[in-house]
Amino acid sequence: MSDMFTEPEERTALREAVARLAASYGREYIEKQVATGGKTTDLWLDMGKQGYLGVNIPEEYGGGGGGMADLAAVLEEAAAAGAPLLMMVVSPAICGSIITRCGTPRQKQKWLPGIADGTLLMAFGITEADAGSNAHQITTTAIRDGDEWVLNGQKTFISGVDEAHAVLIVSRTADARTGKLKPALFVVPTDAQGFTRTPIPMAWKAPEKQFTLFLDDVRLPADALVGDEDGGLWQLFAGLNPERIMGAALSNGMARYALGKAVDYARTRSVWKDQPIGSHQGIAHPLARVKIELEQSRLLQQKAAALYDAGDDFGAGEYANMAKYAGGEIACNAADVAVHTHGGNGLTEEYGLANLLIAARLGRIAPVSREMILNFVGMHTLGLPKSY
Ligand SMILES: Cc1cc2nc3c(=O)[nH]c(=O)nc-3n(C[C@H](O)[C@H](O)[C@H](O)COP(=O)(O)OP(=O)(O)OC[C@H]3O[C@@H](n4cnc5c(N)ncnc54)[C@H](O)[C@@H]3O)c2cc1C
Repeated sequence: MSDMFTEPEERTALREAVARLAASYGREYIEKQVATGGKTTDLWLDMGKQGYLGVNIPEEYGGGGGGMADLAAVLEEAAAAGAPLLMMVVSPAICGSIITRCGTPRQKQKWLPGIADGTLLMAFGITEADAGSNAHQITTTAIRDGDEWVLNGQKTFISGVDEAHAVLIVSRTADARTGKLKPALFVVPTDAQGFTRTPIPMAWKAPEKQFTLFLDDVRLPADALVGDEDGGLWQLFAGLNPERIMGAALSNGMARYALGKAVDYARTRSVWKDQPIGSHQGIAHPLARVKIELEQSRLLQQKAAALYDAGDDFGAGEYANMAKYAGGEIACNAADVAVHTHGGNGLTEEYGLANLLIAARLGRIAPVSREMILNFVGMHTLGLPKSY
C-alpha cells in the first residue's frame, strides 16, 4: 500500500497516547467542568506536559519539532475521546504558527515555550461585529506613538479570553485605514490597561467562553508587533491555514465521538424482540454513510496538513478550506444521526448528544463559514468570477 495514505508510525503512536490520556478524562470530565463553571486546565496542562500541545512548535523553543499534521492528530484524538479542546485551534495552532514563522527570536523565546507546554494560553482576535466574514472591513487600528503602539477597537466572539494570558489581535495600521486589509498583528496581554472584556452568553455549553473585547488606547511596546507592519496578508495566513486544518480536526474528532456513541447504542438497544435497532437499515445506513463521509473528510484534513507542512502555503490554503468545509458537514451529520439513533435519549442531558448538535454546528460557522469557503473554491479553484 502506498505510504501516501498511511501515517508514520510516530504519529500513530502519538494518536494512541493522546487517545489514552484524553479518555482518562473523557466526556464526564468536560461535563463536570461545564456544570461547575470549571475549565479544562488539568487536562490541558497534562497534555502540555506530555508534549502533545506543542508538537508543532520548534524543539529549540520547547516543542516537539513536528508539524500541523501532528497537532491536528492530537486534537482529533482528544475530540474523539469526548474532550474537544477548542483552544488548541487558537493557542498552539494559530498563535504558535504565526509567532514561529513571523516572530523575532526574542518573541519566540518569550511566548513559544509557554504555548508549547500549555502554561501560557494565547487567544486570537480577528472577528469584529461590523466586519464578520469580511475581514477586510476590520477597523481596529494601531497608531505608532514614539516607541509605542496605541490600539483602539473592538472584537467579538473571541474564545477563551478569561483563560488567556494574551490575545493576538489583528488590527490595521493607521495609514491603511481604508481599502484592502494590511493586517498588523499585536500580542496584547489580557491585563493591559484599556483592555476589557464582556462574556457573550452562548447556547453552547462548553468550558470555553466567548467574549467581546474593547481596546481603548491600549499602549504596547514596539515588540508587541509580530511580523512586519508592511508584511501583508501572508503573515495572517501563516495562522489561518492551521486554524482551518485544526477546525477540520476538531470537527472530525467530534464526528468520530458521535459515530462511536451511535454505533454502540445501535448494537445494544433492542425494542423488537432480540433484534438490536442497528439491524434495521433505516438505522444502519445513515451510520455507514457517516463513516464513509468521515473518512473522506479525514483524508482532506491529512492532505491539507501535509501541504502546509511541506511549505506549500497556496496549496494548503485551498485544501485547508476544503477540509474545514468537509469537517463541518460531517460533524453536523454525525451529531444529527447520533441523536436520531438514540431516539428520545438523544435529547436528554444524560446522553450529552443534544449539546453536540450545537458544538458541531460551530464547524459550519467558524472560523470561516461554509459559504465563504464555497466562495473561495468557486473563485480560486474553479476560476469563477469573484462574488464577494
Ligand atoms: C463559538 C465561537 C467561537 C469563535 N471564536 C473566535 C475566536 O476565537 N476569534 C475570532 O476572531 N473569531 C471567533 N469566532 C467568530 C467566527 O469566526 C465568526 O462567527 C465567523 O467568521 C462568521 O462571522 P459572523 O458571525 O460575523 O457572520 P456574518 O459574517 O454576519 O455571516 C452571517 C451569515 O451570512 C453568510 N455570508 C456572509 N457573507 C457572505 C457572502 N459573501 N456570500 C454568502 N454568504 C455570506 C455567512 O456564511 C453566514 O452564514 C467565533 C465564533 C463562534 C460562534
